[in-house]
Amino acid sequence: MHNDVSPINPYQMAVEQFELAADRLNLSEDMREILRHPKRELIVHFPVRLDDGRIHTFTGYRVQHNVNRGPAKGGIRYSPEVTLDEVKALAMWMTWKCAVVGIPYGGAKGGVICDPKQMSAAELERLTRRYATEISIIIGPHSDIPAPDVNTNSQVMAWIMDTYSMHEGYSIPAVVTGKPLSIGGSEGRNDATATGVLFVTRQAAKRIGMPLQGARVSIQGFGNAGSIAARLFHNEGCKIVAVSDTRGGIYNERGLDPAAVLRHKQERGTVVGFPHAETIGIQDVLEVPCDILIPAATEGVITEENADRIQARIVSEAANGPTTPAADKILFKKDIMVIPDILANAGGVTVSYFEWVQDLQSFFWGVEEITQRLEVIMNRAFAAVAARAEQSHCDMRLAANMLAISRVAEATQIRGIYP
Ligand code: NAD
Repeated sequence: MHNDVSPINPYQMAVEQFELAADRLNLSEDMREILRHPKRELIVHFPVRLDDGRIHTFTGYRVQHNVNRGPAKGGIRYSPEVTLDEVKALAMWMTWKCAVVGIPYGGAKGGVICDPKQMSAAELERLTRRYATEISIIIGPHSDIPAPDVNTNSQVMAWIMDTYSMHEGYSIPAVVTGKPLSIGGSEGRNDATATGVLFVTRQAAKRIGMPLQGARVSIQGFGNAGSIAARLFHNEGCKIVAVSDTRGGIYNERGLDPAAVLRHKQERGTVVGFPHAETIGIQDVLEVPCDILIPAATEGVITEENADRIQARIVSEAANGPTTPAADKILFKKDIMVIPDILANAGGVTVSYFEWVQDLQSFFWGVEEITQRLEVIMNRAFAAVAARAEQSHCDMRLAANMLAISRVAEATQIRGIYP
């Protein structure tokens, strides 16, 4: 059983990945100097009244990395582990992600240091409305559009949309995405990240000649991205052999029923204890025998310490930043195809983009149209990254970063430096 995860600085990781791609692109020092720094970092400390009458001051962040290709876009995370460096890394990855799938956004991210599992719904609402007010000086439908991330959901987005709209005096649905359908959310947004993971994994499997039917899948994290991926891959004919959450993992080589696991998690708050499955350690889910590994939890979980023990043929990164640069090298040597986060999980931001377009036009599309458009974008991006990897004899992450960074650099170059 392996339960220790050493602390990894995600921003150092993001910059290291950037420099690797910049080297291969022969990017000028001037351009690197622009792209390696976030454009804005806002830190807010704000008081919230707790249910017991006390006041607690929370700390939150909103970071915009680059806006040369369009307004900033990125999720908001609630977690005790949020740090400024984590938010900076996630904002930079958002810039590259939007560029790799070719949607007209720059990158941003936000976070609040809090433990939502210990807070009531009323406390979370007060925290959200105050945080939204504090960051409202830089967010907006044409400047920076937040979305859900770890421990935030459509209800949180509804509160942000309402708070922002109250200040402006009229409803502005396009200020956030991932909203409930009843207030301008989009069909397909809830499943979008996992659907995108499925689309690119299909392409990867085709490339290495591995049928998805019967393929064994292991998934770390059983939240929005992970639990929906479990359902979609199961429907595709895959066998979900292991899943996990913060309390531990479960394994059954004959396959788990994702709907039953989800019911168990909803009742007990964890996947652990699911009947007819073996309990495994929180890190073991990465190392079980499987064909497809889907990290869908958090950063820095595949490291030089455990990369050698990974048995999958494809690693499809639903989570952001799950693999360290040192682990990347080991996986590449082992001939494991890693579909990098900025490509694999871009389905979420792509359907967020569709939601924003629909909100701005007040004209809504059906789910078939959304899924079709998403598939076109994901398959096109996968093909472009795979071609670049072949051409440059490198792994898919370096190829995706090269493609994305060259697009952002081109936009930055052509706009010029103000003034
Ligand atoms: P979520 O809060 O819905 O779920 C996170 C899950 O991960 C939970 O089940 C939690 O218990 C589990 N978890 C956390 N740390 C863990 C650990 N160390 N080991 C095992 N399980 C752990 O969050 P989400 O929205 O599903 O996001 C998960 C990842 O996917 C994040 O990296 C996020 O940035 C990324 N992502 C999400 C979206 C989206 O649309 N939701 C889009 C793109 C990327």
